[in-house]
Order: sequence, then structure tokens, then C-alpha cells
Amino acid sequence: MIAFLFSSAACAFLCLLNLLNLLNLLNLLYFLYLLYFLLLVLAFSRRCASIAFTPFAMDFSFTDDQRLIRDTVRQFMEAEVRPVIRQYEREEKFAAAELRKLGELGCCGMLVPEEWGGGGADTVSYVLMLEEVARVDASIAVALSVTNSVACLPLWKHGTEAQKKKYLPRMARGEMLGAFCLTEPQAGSDSAAIATRATRHGDIYRLNGTKSWVTNGGVAGLYLVYARTGTEPGARGVTAFLVEPAFPGFHLSRYEDKMGLRTSRSAEIVFNDCEVPVGNRLGEEGQGLKIALEALDSGRVGIAAQAVGIAQGALEEAVRYAKQRRAFGQTISEFQAIQWMLADMQTEIEAARGLTYHAACLRDQGARRLGPYASRAKLYAGEMVNRVAYKALQVHGAIGYSRESNIERIYRDARVISIYEGTSEIQRLIIARDLLAPAGQVSVSVPRQAAAPGTTTAKGGR
Ligand SMILES: Cc1cc2nc3c(=O)[nH]c(=O)nc-3n(C[C@H](O)[C@H](O)[C@H](O)COP(=O)(O)OP(=O)(O)OC[C@H]3O[C@@H](n4cnc5c(N)ncnc54)[C@H](O)[C@@H]3O)c2cc1C
Repeated sequence: MIAFLFSSAACAFLCLLNLLNLLNLLNLLYFLYLLYFLLLVLAFSRRCASIAFTPFAMDFSFTDDQRLIRDTVRQFMEAEVRPVIRQYEREEKFAAAELRKLGELGCCGMLVPEEWGGGGADTVSYVLMLEEVARVDASIAVALSVTNSVACLPLWKHGTEAQKKKYLPRMARGEMLGAFCLTEPQAGSDSAAIATRATRHGDIYRLNGTKSWVTNGGVAGLYLVYARTGTEPGARGVTAFLVEPAFPGFHLSRYEDKMGLRTSRSAEIVFNDCEVPVGNRLGEEGQGLKIALEALDSGRVGIAAQAVGIAQGALEEAVRYAKQRRAFGQTISEFQAIQWMLADMQTEIEAARGLTYHAACLRDQGARRLGPYASRAKLYAGEMVNRVAYKALQVHGAIGYSRESNIERIYRDARVISIYEGTSEIQRLIIARDLLAPAGQVSVSVPRQAAAPGTTTAKGGR
């Protein structure tokens, strides 16, 4: 018994010793594991240093200047345009006086340097301005967008000193609007198929052909007209001209009877041996389509901003109505179905806003190829504004279908965004072409030194 007790005690003692050894071993293993873990953390934190401690924080804030521009335009639109917009729509009255005042505020040539009468502003300020204008009135926004992006900018970038001196300060100050004449009855998306012809006779060109859907047609002081000069087919034979409406042979044949943007002017213009001095050729012969497509890259950022503004206006109308309309003993804003529509609308607007501001920022940084970024913003914002306008009208019920409501106008105005300055299908072509380009040719946002308009990726298609 004693022996048994003794051997048991020895065994327990040995087990304890073993256990302690084991514990030591475990401790050792545990220590080694901790060491390994610490080394891993150290290595990982070094690899992630650019994320965790990046000095280049993503900055979504606006500068004081950008905030001032946004607030000034918002105040103007609320005070001077909102009160008259319904009446103007009914009378299909072009908002000439309001546009003149917006010009005085610097909204016509915002991207043009100050030495040429422009605002010398950045693209983010420009999209904020267009967003605020479109939030109240999409028709005024398109008049400003065309003048800024596809009239002033190509003139500033490609014009001679004499051309700029003659036209740019007046257009940038808003004393006259600009127009962009590319589309023809038989050539829209396929802009390389235009047939308007310009033939040189000494020191003038004679233009013959028809341009359709010219925004600001009949109210513009300067028209950028794209016509065929060479015998080469397709994009290479196209040249740009600066045409005044007073030139002999310039005829406004009719206005389009549109579904929306009823207070904006869209005209068909016929050139009948229209005489344009050689000094009014913009750029060299054959450069026209390159100039047009480059201008459209910047233009699309503006149209995306227009879409964001229209959608924001629609959302505000819907929220206001949902809070006041009652059904089944409560306001309709208390129904989850309505709340979900409003939540989806706001989320989509923010997504489009992000794409638009991103494209604007890239343009300000002089991104090598703006095209795909502008197209993504235009595509998403153009489709988004239609979904948002549909839902905003749905929230209004029958009153949304009445011409008494603002949302009915907004719904009609929104429809064109996915059509002009390149349809959604053409934006998808540009994006896909960029995506599928051979390695090394994909667009990267490498900033250039000078902030100049980005180049286009479209070949012939706008
Ligand atoms: C209100 C308004 C204002 C406008 N302002 C101007 C202006 O100021 N200046 C100007 O020059 N133009 C202007 N336009 C014209 C506008 O840019 C064209 O309408 C647009 O480019 C589409 O051309 P389209 O209408 O001829 O359509 P089409 O080119 O005939 O296209 C018809 C359909 O076919 C699709 N399609 C065409 N090609 C392809 C393809 N390769 N792959 C897939 N689908 C394709 C299109 O996406 C579209 O759905 C304006 C238009 C409107 C409605």
C-alpha cells in the first residue's frame, strides 16, 4: 500500500513535471506563434503603408470659390427663374434675359481664361454651376452647356488670335450665345457621315447643306459648323468653321417641336452657298471632327452635371410632395414603398454625382484621356435621371401626370439626356473600346502639366 502510495505520488510528481514541461513547451510554442504573428503584422503594415498612412487623402470638400459659385447660382435660380418657369414653359419663351444675367455672373465662359473674358474657373466649379441651373431649369442649363463646352472651349483651344479677339470675350461674357452644328438629318451618331460641304473660292468658302437639332439655333451669335472640305470619306475630310448668322446664305428653316426642353431653341439650319471667310476656318482643313469630338468629351461632363441637377430637382419635388400628401390616414412618406423609392433615388443621384465630379477633377488635372471618364459619367447620369424622374412622378400619382405639376416638365426634360451629345449606346461603345484596348493603351488618369481639354477616344462615332 505504502509502495503503491509512494509510486502514485512519484507518478503524480512526474506527471506534474511532465505537465510543467509540456506547459513550458506550450509556452514556447505560444511565444513563437506570437513572435510570428508580430512579424506578420509588421510586414503587413509595411506593405499597407500607402493605404494606412497615405499622405494623399481623398478630398471631397469644395474650395471657398466653388462653394461661392454654387451658392450664388442657386440663389439666382431660386429668385429669378423658379417664379417664372411655369409661365415660360406654357409660352415656350426662351429665357434670354435670365441667360444674359447668368452671363454677367460669369456662367457662359467659365472655363475660358480671364484674359479672354472668361471666368478661368476649374471644371468642378463649372459642373456645380450647371447642376444648380439644371436643378431649376434644364433648358437654361443646355444653352449654357453648349456655349461653354462646345463653342467657347474649341474656339479658345483652336482659334487664331484674331478669331479669339473677335468672338471669344463677347461669348464668354454672355453677350452672345454659341451653337454647335454637327448633326444632320441623315447623320447623328455616325458624325463622320455628314454631307454638308464647304468648297473654297479664293478667300471664301461656300457652305451647302442642312444641320438639324442645333441648340441655341436662332438665338446664338456664333455657330461652329462642321462641313466636308476634302474628297476623303469619313472623319478625315471634315473641317470646322465659325459662322455668323448674318453671313449671306445662312437660313434658319424651322424649329423642332420637342417633347421636353420646350423653352430651349433647337433649330434646323440650311446653308445655301453660305459665304464664310477663310479667316473663319477653325483649325486646319481635315481637323474638324477631331475638334468636335474633343469638345464633346468636355461637353459630356457638363451634360452629366445637367442630369444630376435635373434629378436633384425631381427628388426635392418628390420629398416635398410625399411629406404633404395623405392616404389611409397618414402621409405617403410614412409608407415604406415610398421611402424605398426616395432612398433609391438619392443613392443613384449621389453615385452619378461622384462619377461627374471625378471626371471634372480629372479634366482639371489634365488627364491624358478624358473620353471614357466623361462617357461613364454621361452614361450613368443620363440613365439615372430617367429612372429618378420616373419614380418622382410615381410618388406624385395623378398630379404628376398633370401639366400643373413641375414633375411632369422634369420628366419630359430628363428624357433627352441619354440621347444628345452621344446616345447611351455610343457612350457604351466608347467605354468598351477603352476597356478592351490592347494593354498599355487603356486610359489612365496620369495628370499632364497643363489643364487642357482631354482627348477623345471615339472614332467617327460621337
Ligand atoms: C434636344 C436636342 C438637342 C440637340 N442639340 C444638338 C446640337 O446642339 N448640335 C448637334 O450637332 N446635335 C444636337 N442634337 C443631336 C444629337 O446629338 C443626336 O440626336 C444624337 O447624336 C443621336 O443621333 P440621331 O438622333 O441621329 O440618332 P441615330 O444616330 O440615328 O441613332 C438611332 C438609334 O440607334 C442607335 N445607334 C446608332 N449607332 C449605333 C451603334 N454604332 N451601336 C449601337 N447603337 C447605335 C442610337 O444609340 C439610337 O438609339 C440634339 C438633339 C436633341 C434631341
